[in-house]
This record gives sequence, C-alpha cells and structure tokens, in this order.
Amino acid sequence: MRGVTFQGNGSVAVEDLPDPEILAPTDALLEVTMAGICGSDLHILHAGAAFGFEPGGRLGHEFLGTIQAVGSEVTGFAPGDRAMVAVGVSCGVCVWCQEGLRASCEKMSIFGWAPRLWKHGGPVEGGQSQYARIPFAQSTLVKIPDALASREHETKLLPIIDVMSTAMHGLVTGRLHPGDDVVVIGDGAVALSAVHCARAMGAENIICYGHHADRLAIAKTLGATMTSEVRDAQEIAEATRGATRGQGARVVVDSVSNTDSMEAAHGSVRAGGTISCLGMDHFMGKTPAVNWYDQFVRNITISGGLLPTGLYIPRLLELLAAGAIDPSPLLTDVVPLDQAVDGYARMAERREGALKVALKVA
Ligand SMILES: [Zn+2]
Ligand SMILES: [Zn+2]
Repeated sequence: MRGVTFQGNGSVAVEDLPDPEILAPTDALLEVTMAGICGSDLHILHAGAAFGFEPGGRLGHEFLGTIQAVGSEVTGFAPGDRAMVAVGVSCGVCVWCQEGLRASCEKMSIFGWAPRLWKHGGPVEGGQSQYARIPFAQSTLVKIPDALASREHETKLLPIIDVMSTAMHGLVTGRLHPGDDVVVIGDGAVALSAVHCARAMGAENIICYGHHADRLAIAKTLGATMTSEVRDAQEIAEATRGATRGQGARVVVDSVSNTDSMEAAHGSVRAGGTISCLGMDHFMGKTPAVNWYDQFVRNITISGGLLPTGLYIPRLLELLAAGAIDPSPLLTDVVPLDQAVDGYARMAERREGALKVALKVA
C-alpha cells in the first residue's frame, strides 16, 4: 500500500509500505478514504527529529474510511461500516477513559507519531495511507451515522476528528452559554473551528483576531460577527471592549497560546470569564507566561488543554446531522494521496490561501 512518511526534518514522502494486519483480537483494519494534514503534522515536518521521529516513520492522525476486517473481540463494528478515528488510541475501560479523559488513557497512543507514543506492538500506524490497523477499535473508532456515510459528506466529517473537537473542548471548558460574547485569537484551523462551534453553541458576538485577510474571510463564512487584523495586545483589548459594551468577552479562545497571545487574551476577557488555551507551543518547549495577578484579582479561569480524544465527536455529529454546522470550508485544498508532498508544501507555505489540506485516499 501507499502511505506518507517522515524523511528527516523538512521532508516527507509517499512510499510503498507493508499492508497492516490484525495483530490483536481487539484490532480492526480500516481502509482509509480521506485523511487530513494537521497543523501538528507541520511541526513534525519542520522538527520531527526533535520529537523522536526516525526517517520512514508514518504520519497522519485525522482519517476516516471503511472497516475492512475486525478482530474476534470487536463487537458493534463490521466490515463495510464507515468509521472515523478519534486521533489517538484509547482502551475505553481504564479510569481515565471512564471519566472522558481519553488523552490520559493508560494505553493512549497517537496515530502517526513517534514510536515512544505507540504502545501497541507492530509498527506505528498512520492514517495518511491506504490502510491502518486500529488498536482497541471499539473505543478508538466512532461509527459514522448512515445519513452521513456516503462519500459526499467526507469534507464535513474530517474536520470534526481534531480541529472542531479541539475547538469545542475550548468552548465547553470555557463554560460558554448561549448569548455570551466570544473572542478567538488566531486564524488557523482550530481558531476558525472555534468561531464555527461558538456560533452553533449560541454565542452572541464572535470576534476573531488574525493576520490573514483570506482566513478572516473564512471566519466570516463560519460565523464570526467581527474580524480584525490588529496585532498589538492593547489594540486587541480596546477593539474587544468596543464590541462588548466595554466589558470584554466571557470566553476567550487562545488558539496560539504564547506569551503575546496570552497578553491579548487577558486584555479581552471580562471579569469572571475564561481563557481557553488550545495552542501547541507547550509541545515546542515554549510555555506561555500567565498573568497570575490578573487571574487572581479579576477571577479569571484558565482552561482548555489537550483534547480528550473522541469526547466531542458524538455531539458534533449530531450538530452536523441537524445542519447546525458545516466545517467543510476549513478544507481549502483536497489533493490525492500520491500528491501529499505537494499538500504538505501548500499548507506549510500557505500557498494560495491554503488553510487545511485533505488527502483523498480512495
Ligand atoms: Zn490534528
Ligand atoms: Zn483507557
């Protein structure tokens, strides 16, 4: 089969790989039909060696497809079923899984990551490929409802796996209520997902701050009531107060989560509000400074964090089935699997407004 692999910092390739096999009775085999390239895949592209990636390591943690085979202990799934993965592997039975904290599962692994994050024997599986072995399939896979199972729905489904789920995590842990004002800092796929989710969850004003006019135009399409390219934390704070009766927003989603964006978030959040941190800089060794004085005197909650894999997919599928969301505008580019190298380059270089690239595998 064909699949995308890391080839050393700055380079990926589409290669011939061995077909995966069922190795445990709890495994399933998925024939992948569409896979996403994630912002975190770009971190791997640029600096994967620092995370323990070896040349030849497989990539891809956002994918969906058709079940090809199931192990003897997998119930509830059958060959031919359409299913999506939940980013990582989870066992479904440990104390963390029971609490909905599946990113902390005792057996947690991430598809398409370095071997140290793969605990299931055999090679690390990646979803930017024709087939993938799915450990603990019963917990790791989510069945796609019949009404959304046909191929035409794939570009609406794919963003749900990671970026829309991460955005919803920010808003749910941010305690968003209908009628609240929301500020979103950043204009990447997670930020624009937060805009779209906030609209579906009934937010009043949804203000998005970014640096790219084309991305802010997508933010408008997805539900932003105001967009702005102001960059300075003071200017962002003033613009937010101007749009929120002088109060600030109840929920600020900081999709960047570095020290500068956190300063803007503190300037935009109202007293008693929440700043949800969803950015990846922690993984890059850059922990943002938090204004603990402001947090204390104005009773600010700092929330967000790593996505509990799969937790929000059922709710997002319901919103999709009801027509309340359509995140397909996030996928600005769809290219065949064999052109994945170009797909990575389009996204890394932000070529012609590429925001998020999907790989059409079958
Ligand atoms: Zn991702
Ligand atoms: Zn578990």
